Amino acid sequence: MVKFNYLIVGTGLFGATIAHSLTRSGKQCFVIDKRSHIGGNIYTKLVNGINVHKYGAHIFHTSNKRVWDFVNSFVEFNRYINAPIANYKGKLYNLPFNMNTFYQMWGVTTPEQAATKIEEQRRESGITHPRNLEEQAISLIGKDIYYTLIKDYTEKQWGRKATELPTFIIRRLPVRLTFDNNYFNDKYQGIPVGGYTKLVEKLLEGVEVKLDMDYFENKEYFDSVADRIIYTGEIDRYFDYCFGHLEYRTVSFETEVLEGVSNYQGNAVVNYTDAETPYTRIIEHKHFEFGNQPDTVISKEYSKEWRLGDEPYYPVNDERNSALYTKYKALADAQERVIFGGRLAEYKYYDMHQVIERALNLANSL
Ligand code: FAD
Repeated sequence: MVKFNYLIVGTGLFGATIAHSLTRSGKQCFVIDKRSHIGGNIYTKLVNGINVHKYGAHIFHTSNKRVWDFVNSFVEFNRYINAPIANYKGKLYNLPFNMNTFYQMWGVTTPEQAATKIEEQRRESGITHPRNLEEQAISLIGKDIYYTLIKDYTEKQWGRKATELPTFIIRRLPVRLTFDNNYFNDKYQGIPVGGYTKLVEKLLEGVEVKLDMDYFENKEYFDSVADRIIYTGEIDRYFDYCFGHLEYRTVSFETEVLEGVSNYQGNAVVNYTDAETPYTRIIEHKHFEFGNQPDTVISKEYSKEWRLGDEPYYPVNDERNSALYTKYKALADAQERVIFGGRLAEYKYYDMHQVIERALNLANSL
């Protein structure tokens, strides 16, 4: 039997990055994934010539030059800048909140007028000790922006009334007094030319990969083929849910190919901020890569309550789940041969650049 130095469970960005780094430093790695494709949640699938972000829109952004140089050494990144549009009952607003938004909302044309208007609205609210998300948001930005761009969208996202949501969800609401629609503040941003799958393919070049293999279906065998295991799946699953299930927030997608429609909404991301529209946003995938194909592919994104068996997307970092994770983490730390890494194994929301940074650091330490 071939003996590998490392068995890596998961071909997501964490697994692929660590597999690449370890292989380059002379280690023998064997990577498996239970899905039928590589890339985990950043997987993009070519549909009618368009790279479709199968598990939700992914925009690469970072201020970390080491990570940016690393990804650019595998694929070229395009000049995509995320600038979402909000659609409230048919009227459009730029996001994040900036001078364009304030002009659309109030007709104000100078930063001074906008700042005065915001301050006026905040004062009018009279809220000094917000007791819930609604009061928190109104005390930060006033009622016009809150009712048009925050309330219904947030309620759809969480499936609960804003007055029943805790204040900590919105700690601050960044406001820009410049005409700048760039959603992120990072130094570097873009989408890999040819899609994320290409990036992961390059990372896994020269590495032994097997798909459609669930680690737990043949754990004893997989444990026997390598000295150490790097596990990027769900941490509670690893320990057979012995303390109970960790919860996630999930989203679902309704994807449609619109043949003969070359441009559906003119932007990659449009958020629907009213209550009547059941989905939270529509993604038009071709605009991530400035595509000019004759067709288009759109995905309507719905927020929904997570149930056992659903795709785990966002960890819920409330008291119950944090306490539960701490218990699982203690078990994980006591494992001699197994290292837990990535968003599912660490039960933490990481952006892509953070996952890469953590995987590179782990590879160095190994
Ligand atoms: P994953 O991608 O989940 O990979 C884990 C892999 O392990 C999967 O392929 C899974 O099939 C496999 N696996 C699990 N259990 C087993 C098992 N038992 N046996 C075999 N294989 C197994 N980040 C950004 O920087 N920008 C964005 O715009 C952005 N948008 C996002 C949108 C959404 C909806 C979500 C949920 C996340 C977004 N992210 C974004 C975060 C990004 O998706 C993550 O940082 C990244 O995917 C994490 O990689 P990972 O390898 O840790 O996990």
